[in-house]
Amino acid sequence: MADAFDEECDYLFKAVLIGDSGVGKSNLLSRFAKDEFRLDSKPTIGVEFAYRNIKVGDKLIKAQIWDTAGQERFRAITSSYYRGALGALLVYDITMRSSYENVSKWLVELREFGGQDMVVVLVGNKCDLDQSREVEKEEGKGYAETEGLCFMETSALKNLNVEEVFLQMITKIYDMTRQKSL
Ligand code: GDP
Repeated sequence: MADAFDEECDYLFKAVLIGDSGVGKSNLLSRFAKDEFRLDSKPTIGVEFAYRNIKVGDKLIKAQIWDTAGQERFRAITSSYYRGALGALLVYDITMRSSYENVSKWLVELREFGGQDMVVVLVGNKCDLDQSREVEKEEGKGYAETEGLCFMETSALKNLNVEEVFLQMITKIYDMTRQKSL
């Protein structure tokens, strides 16, 4: 696989991962970024962001994905985290009802700091744990529809829909960017 830093890209898109602690954000990102995962210099805090190059049509897009790296607990996420971000994966855990109930709070913050135009995908992660499910798929999907968000259930553990969810967000960002430049 080519190094994400060496290739000439047509676009650079920043996107963020958001949601309660423990829902699987870091695992989703490491699945997606694979061997292009870039660790920061503070392993106790973890990953700050990762890059991956994606082809959309004939364009090469460098996706820079930011992870809260555990700091969501400390509310240290500020406007700098969201600055310049064009998209977000708002993640909850289908086996943890409270993480779903907090989605609306994260959405308020996303819209406050990230603006109204951000592409937001609501992600119900850990769908491999169907036997412990506390949030029905239809519920998440219905909420996403009322809020104008995309929706997908994923499993970082089983690698289900992970590629798809990132691709969906990046493709939407690309479409939006192109429309704005017309
Ligand atoms: P974060 O705090 O949102 O970044 O969550 P992490 O990525 O650190 O994951 C929290 C815990 O959930 C870890 O123990 C992971 O192994 C587990 N986990 C993450 N994604 C999945 C998944 O899709 N399925 C299952 N069963 N466990 C997961």
